[in-house]
Amino acid sequence: MSDTMKAIVVERLGPPEVMELRELPIPQPGPGEVRLRVEAVGINFADALAVSGEYLTRTKLPYTPGMEFAGVVDALGEGVSGVEVGQRVASLGGRGGLAEYALSPAAALIPVPGSFSAAQAAAFPVSYFTAYHGLKTLGRGREDEWVLVQAAAGALGTASIQLAKAMGMNVVAMASTEEKLQLARDLGADVTLLQDEPDRVQKVRDAAGGKGVPLILEVVGGPRFQESLDMAANQGRIIVIGNASREQANLRPVELMKRNLTVTGLWLTSLMMDGEATREAAQALSTLMAGGRVVPQVGPTYPLAQSARAFQDLLDRKTTGKVIIEPGR
Ligand code: NDP
Repeated sequence: MSDTMKAIVVERLGPPEVMELRELPIPQPGPGEVRLRVEAVGINFADALAVSGEYLTRTKLPYTPGMEFAGVVDALGEGVSGVEVGQRVASLGGRGGLAEYALSPAAALIPVPGSFSAAQAAAFPVSYFTAYHGLKTLGRGREDEWVLVQAAAGALGTASIQLAKAMGMNVVAMASTEEKLQLARDLGADVTLLQDEPDRVQKVRDAAGGKGVPLILEVVGGPRFQESLDMAANQGRIIVIGNASREQANLRPVELMKRNLTVTGLWLTSLMMDGEATREAAQALSTLMAGGRVVPQVGPTYPLAQSARAFQDLLDRKTTGKVIIEPGR
């Protein structure tokens, strides 16, 4: 085996084209870490924001993006047990996934069903844990309740529809094109609306029995945040998960008082530190996966050399499902 590998390197913040394909030393796992031969990397909106320097946390340079990936374990660091060389696993919270080999803390490995392809395994952790926490842990969604899913054909959106339906909820899905709405319907969305549909606030309220939506997974932000408040039922819960518009929103607390609304932030990275919530989500998701009710929606796949294009397509709203990069391709 050669001691170098192909990897993406970001040396300065900017648009996706700042990502360069380089030859780097293959990393050695430290104590508590495993090394994976990376088969598939799940690309999240957050990855693109980190490259441009617009993410919640500061991006430390230089670095190799890729926090969610799947592959075959090929080396174990000191003190690692419970995982074997040759096993296919997914990692959530590893680093440097956009490379032929990457390290992950053993504690960040997520078992995946043997029936999943590498791309499905890489498409799973971020979107499904986030969707679960949005719908259940923080959203307290109940059977027969309505939920509004925005960017419904995206990675998080498709995961949210699948999970909401598996939990017996009713889904209003919004997205920017008819094609995306068709995908949402194929996954079980009960009502679908274009994101720019005229009279959308009233139409969403009508869809949910005329009283508005009790639970909203808000990922667009900006001026759309106000619309989400208007679409919410009295005592509605709005879970703020993203800000895909990258625009500022105005929140007037008095408006929350008037209709007893609750706005809750959700960031998966900090929720993962809540052991009990994570265990509960993992248990629920593994039951749904084993029953075949949850099948990650793999989107377009790209070779490592086309990482910049993959990121740009995601930012340009051209993709559905989870964008995947396959370093071995
Ligand atoms: P997606 O696959 O959903 O892609 C992003 C989608 O956002 C686009 O396809 C587009 O769908 C929608 N969008 C709406 N407005 C814009 C805009 N102005 N520019 C670009 N896209 C827009 O990505 P992810 O599943 O990775 O993420 C979805 C959202 O959830 C993001 O905001 C992300 O940051 C957030 N997220 C947050 C997490 C957390 O821990 N808080 C974890 C995971 C995701 P359409 O064309 O239909 O509008």
